Amino acid sequence: MAVPKKRTPSSKKGMRRSHHGRKSMGLSLCPSCKSPALSHKACPTCGTYRGRTVIAVTKKAEKMEEKRKDKARKTGA
Ligand SMILES: [Zn+2]
Repeated sequence: MAVPKKRTPSSKKGMRRSHHGRKSMGLSLCPSCKSPALSHKACPTCGTYRGRTVIAVTKKAEKMEEKRKDKARKTGA
């Protein structure tokens, strides 16, 4: 098995890891509701993509609320 001849100094590790930082997601504004959303994806706030409604956001929100209530009921009892 190949073994490194010398230990890697902390400065060299730092140089290598200088590129490991997280990059920003590059959010763009939704044309219909002006909230930040990923480009080429349906808007999570209003559920539209290229002017068409593709996700029923209100239905989704209702479902999430129902789920949360159910969970609270389970933990409470
Ligand atoms: Zn939107």
